[in-house]
Amino acid sequence: SNIKTESLTECLTRVFSLCESEAVSRGHVLTMKLPDQAISIQMDRDKIIQVLINLIRNAFQAMDQAGVVKLSLIAAGGKAIIEVEDTGKGIASEDLPKIFDPFYTTKEEGTGLGLSLCQKIVEDHGGKIMVHSQLNVGTIFTLTFPIS
Ligand code: ADP
Ligand code: MG
Repeated sequence: SNIKTESLTECLTRVFSLCESEAVSRGHVLTMKLPDQAISIQMDRDKIIQVLINLIRNAFQAMDQAGVVKLSLIAAGGKAIIEVEDTGKGIASEDLPKIFDPFYTTKEEGTGLGLSLCQKIVEDHGGKIMVHSQLNVGTIFTLTFPIS
């Protein structure tokens, strides 16, 4: 594997610049909030970038009207916590247990593989992925990683 001590701060900055033009072309706003001090974890950088892009693209696709996606990073209690928050359609509570299942999709052209891959990558890094959602309000995905 390609696991090294790498800066999550830098990683989010990279993801932000990769996703910003898609946000603009869809009429959405993408924001980012980073801590004053850089946070590093043991990671395969390309895989973590893939996870974040997956979550942000899902967020864009969940917003029919112009919406806001907030990407943030904080350190708390020896953990790095990343949030991807959207103002999209939300997920019904009865559907929440299914969203990490491979091939579960509600999209006409979805594969349903994005979140199952995200979960595998996060867990391979010793982390956790959690979701909190409110119908017609929005969804927050929270990733938690141990800090090296
Ligand atoms: P796909 O994007 O191909 O449908 P995913 O595994 O990425 O597959 O997501 C599975 C399903 O979870 C989506 O089809 C959608 O119903 C739901 N979902 C994922 N992210 C969001 C989100 N940010 N807001 C609302 N629903 C979401
Ligand atoms: Mg997806």
